[in-house]
Parts: sequence; C-alpha cells; structure tokens
Amino acid sequence: MSFTEFNFNSQITAGIRACGYTSPTPIQQQAIPQILEGQDLMGLAQTGTGKTAAFVLPILQRLMKGPRRTIRALIVAPTRELAEQIHENIFNLGKKTGLRSVAVYGGVSKFGQIKKIRSGVEIVVACPGRLLDHLDDGAINLAKVEMLVLDESDIMFDMGFMPAIRRILKRLPQQRQTLLFSATMPGAIRQLAHEVLKNPATVQIGHSKPVATVSHVLYSVERQHKTALLKSIINQKNMETTLVFTRTKHGARNLAHHLQKAGYRATSLQGNLSQQKRRQALDGFKQGKFKILVATDIAARGIDVSGISHVVNYDMPNTADAYTHRIGRTGRASCTGEACTFAGREDRRMVKIIERSLGSKIKWQSATIVKGQVPVDDTMVAAPRRHDRVRKNNDTGNCRPQKQRNQQDQTTSGKVRRRRRVFPFGFPMECEMPQIPQRRKRPQANNR
Ligand code: AMP
Repeated sequence: MSFTEFNFNSQITAGIRACGYTSPTPIQQQAIPQILEGQDLMGLAQTGTGKTAAFVLPILQRLMKGPRRTIRALIVAPTRELAEQIHENIFNLGKKTGLRSVAVYGGVSKFGQIKKIRSGVEIVVACPGRLLDHLDDGAINLAKVEMLVLDESDIMFDMGFMPAIRRILKRLPQQRQTLLFSATMPGAIRQLAHEVLKNPATVQIGHSKPVATVSHVLYSVERQHKTALLKSIINQKNMETTLVFTRTKHGARNLAHHLQKAGYRATSLQGNLSQQKRRQALDGFKQGKFKILVATDIAARGIDVSGISHVVNYDMPNTADAYTHRIGRTGRASCTGEACTFAGREDRRMVKIIERSLGSKIKWQSATIVKGQVPVDDTMVAAPRRHDRVRKNNDTGNCRPQKQRNQQDQTTSGKVRRRRRVFPFGFPMECEMPQIPQRRKRPQANNR
C-alpha cells in the first residue's frame, strides 16, 4: 500500500516524503481512512508503530480546509516529552501546509505559550495540568475544536489525569471527532471510551505485545551487583545507544552519575530535573552526545530516538504494560533492538507475568561481571536454579533463608544486627567489589 491511496493534499504528501516515509505502517493503513471519513476511533496500538502519524496526517488534511488561526484540533498527552514529540511530528509532516501547532505543558513559563497561542495556531498539543491552567486563566479558547485526540490514555489514567481530562472535555464542543489511543484497555479506559466516543471504529495492532523486532534476555542478578553487571554488558555487547530504566528518580540520577564518573557518556532523564535540564538530556541523547540515558518510566514516556540499540531494565517494571512501553523505545519503525532485564529473586513473579504477555519464555543469559576491563572474580551471573531461595547467598556465604538469619541475628535488645552494607544503586566509587567468600561445603542436613 502507498500513501497516494489516501489522496492527501500535495503539501502533506511533501511532508511525508520529507520525513522519509515510503509506505504506511499497519496502524496508519487501518486508522487513516476511518479518520478521514470523520469517524470516532478507538486505537489500540503499541508504541513505535507509527500511531502519531496515523492521527496527525488526517488532522492536517482536515485543517487544510476551513478557517486558520483558530484552535481546531486538540491533542492531549500524558508527558511533556510526548507532547513535544507530537508537536515535532506535526511540524515535520505539516512543514509545507502553513498549519501551526503549540506544545503546552508545565515546568516552563506560561508566557511563551500564551504568546504563541495569541499569535494564532490551529493545533494545540497539551498535557492536562497546564492546559487547565490556561483554560482557567482564560488564555486559551477551545470552543472551535473539531478534533480531539487523547493519546496514551492508559498512561493518563495511571498518572491520575482522569479528573483533569473530564474537566477539559466540558470545555470542548459536543460536536467533534474524537480519537482515543491506548496501548492497553483496562476497565477505566473502556469506560472513558464509552463516555467520549460516538459509534467508534476500532483499530487494534499487536495489542499489548512488544514490537516483534525486539529480542529479549534476562539476567539473574542481585541488587548489589546490578551496576557492575550493567557496565560489563555495556562493554561486552558493545552497546551503542542505550536507554536504562530505573524505578526511582534518585536511582536514575545516582546511576547516571556513577556511569559518568566511570567514563561513560551517560546522563539522566527524571522528574526532579528542570524542564531545561530534561530537554538538554534528551537532545544530547538524540544527537549522540550521550550514549546512555538513565530514565524513569514517566520521564521516558514518548521518547522517540531513532536507533536505540538496547533497552536495559535495571529495575524490573511494575507491570507487563510498563515493560511493553519501555521495550517500545527500541526496535522502532522496523529497526532491531535488544531488551535486557535484570531480575533478582523478588522479580521472578513479574518475569512470569511478562512472559505470559509476550506469549513465550525469555532466554536467561549469563555474563561475566567485569570491573573496567579486568574481571573482578569468576562470578558468573547465570540463570536461576531451582530452590534458589535456600541456596547459599553469594555475598554472605549463608545457606539459610533471610528470615532464619534475621532470627538468629537478634541481639539481646531485640534489634536485628545489620549483616552487611547494601548499596541499592551499585557500589560507590570508592568501594571495591566485595570479596565473594569461598563456598563452604554444605552440611548434609541442610541439603534439603
Ligand atoms: P510512533 O509510534 O508514532 O511513536 O512512531 C515511531 C517512529 O516511526 C517515529 O520515529 C516515526 O517517525 C516513524 N514512522 C511513523 N510512520 C512511519 C512510516 N510510515 N514509515 C517509516 N517510519 C514511520
């Protein structure tokens, strides 16, 4: 199939050509005709499938006719990075159309946004919070909106944006075309779709499964070895452009600092940074100044960087959907990528859940932990074995489960004595890898 079949305006076709798109992706093939006909649409599409262009192109086509300098299309997205990404897409695809968009999100001054809105735009791409601010200030008028897009709705729900969305909906005309995109379909999104969509067409592409161009591997590693393992696989796999996910903002910041000090071109993208710093980190990563970006889930939402070769789940995602989103950052637009996930003992349940959502088992891989170029010891980080819970702990040389050990560590005052220091985000720079005690011969009675 070719883009010519959609009969887009020649200025839009020029934009498609300039972006280097030769044929529409499956979501574009299915969604564009329905949107062009004016139908409401429920799009269940995984990230990286080209869903942004699937709604941007028909919006541009519709806005080519009719009044200019009036806000006629509103796209609501959960994060600043995603809003910026969509805004860039509109700019690139609509370069020749003369249509203009503004990205509206918090963390930056309202003034610039208001100035742009007043200068006359046809499309607003907004995060819910700042959009409501502008609405409350009377700085933006949505009374002429003809098309509404709610992108990554499941994430907006997860982030607690539903009340804000409902308030925004009240400020929009009843007569409009609504497109709702979501990677997954939890009950709340089904309910929202029921409320906002009229007789919608449904388009579903690879629901909830990560893109097929990504290969998956697991590493069994305890928390204190994660940083050493990360550095080892970065070296061993010659990782090019790597996105590393941590669970917390502090974790992302600390890990990026650690990697920087160890000589890697790394930076972090997390919610504690100012918008300017976030933009610098993302632009630096996009332009190749940084090879490793350590990010949290929320901050990394909507990152579209071509050629991310590896995604590393330094911390296990909380849900299979979060895994899908993270992994979708690589293998985009038919490029191949690899997803490496670090799994401790406590993560085994989540591994099973992810495998179920993938529909196949993920391969466990071994890696020699190397400090710099010199192997620290012979420790192999290998696939877990059965009865791992009572096997000897590599760090303590202890064969008993933690609970039993804690019981025995009770002092007379009833306090639990700390057995060892734990560095949740890897070893501090001044700290050497701990010496791993020789395995003691296990007494017969403890074998089972
Ligand atoms: P998205 O799922 O919208 O985030 O898009 C993922 C990536 O695919 C982006 O870098 C788009 O520029 C790219 N893309 C979208 N549509 C096409 C297409 N028809 N051909 C090639 N690349 C595309």
